[in-house]
Amino acid sequence: MSLLRFAPSPTGALHLGGLRMALYNHLYSRRLGGKWILRIEDTDSTRFVPGAVDGIRHALDWAGLEYDYGPGKGGPHAPYFQSERLDLYRSYTTKLLSSGHAYRCFCSVDTLTALREKFARAGSSTSYDRRCLHLTEEEVARRVRAGERHVVRLNNGAIKVRRPTTDLVFGNLKDAHGSLATDPILLKSDGYPTYHLANVVDDHSMGITHVLRGEEWITSLPLHLDIYSALGLEPPQFAHIPIILNPDGTKMSKRNGDVKVEDYIRQGWEKSALLNWLALVGWGTQHDLEGSEFEVEPTSKAALSNAEPPAAASEKHSPTMKEAPGT
Ligand code: GLU
Repeated sequence: MSLLRFAPSPTGALHLGGLRMALYNHLYSRRLGGKWILRIEDTDSTRFVPGAVDGIRHALDWAGLEYDYGPGKGGPHAPYFQSERLDLYRSYTTKLLSSGHAYRCFCSVDTLTALREKFARAGSSTSYDRRCLHLTEEEVARRVRAGERHVVRLNNGAIKVRRPTTDLVFGNLKDAHGSLATDPILLKSDGYPTYHLANVVDDHSMGITHVLRGEEWITSLPLHLDIYSALGLEPPQFAHIPIILNPDGTKMSKRNGDVKVEDYIRQGWEKSALLNWLALVGWGTQHDLEGSEFEVEPTSKAALSNAEPPAAASEKHSPTMKEAPGT
């Protein structure tokens, strides 16, 4: 069975772009005869906004986008929370450490900043010299026993299979690995996973078959595929969806901020009107969409340049994105 997920981070109110992603996941799961789940990606405590989860759930309820099931905790409609799954991420980290696909890094913030500056001065995009990869086992064990703060990094050099970076929307991405950071961090010093590790572990362990998410995550795809390879796992299929842009090509927003779903709810919008707009915006008119799953123009600018925002009910003049509700 196909299983999809909508995986927002609770960093604020749900925006139109987020609702559109949920809608795409809902519609495509139905198209495949599958299901979708809601997963709250709340592993970054520094960006957590109290009340955001309730806001996201309220917006989805309002829109009638009911996810199919949850972990069973807190009722059938409780979503998955990554913060409740820390043991799982740690166990995958242990696996990577034992297979040599990850290593502990004890470098301080100051050391890392100095290294980055040194590389930048030399015109190199390298961010880390991998010095902790060369610590002896005894040294690592001693420092762990002493309770020294550290992170766990992916050992890029140990990855033997580099999968082609293939996306259902963007096709094959050439040279995608070129932009990868040196040995990215998987587990932070507070014991929480980074977005990348938690995302891969969850998509795998939940049995996600299709990852539909915003285009802004496409640069993370090579890293995610590397983590799948390091763990010896098969990745799901990926579809990165071009995001909605303002007419000037910047990310959709109202004049001084975000385009929040709650503003539209407050202003009495019919959910079918908003969902209809979200379902249709971004489809290039120059394409014949028949017979294709995701045939959109592979650059968001081109695909979305026709975007006109839904106007606030109270507006008397013709709408532009700059005059979205609440401005
Ligand atoms: N948590 C990410 C966000 O809020 C979504 C990433 C994903 O869908 O893989 O944008």
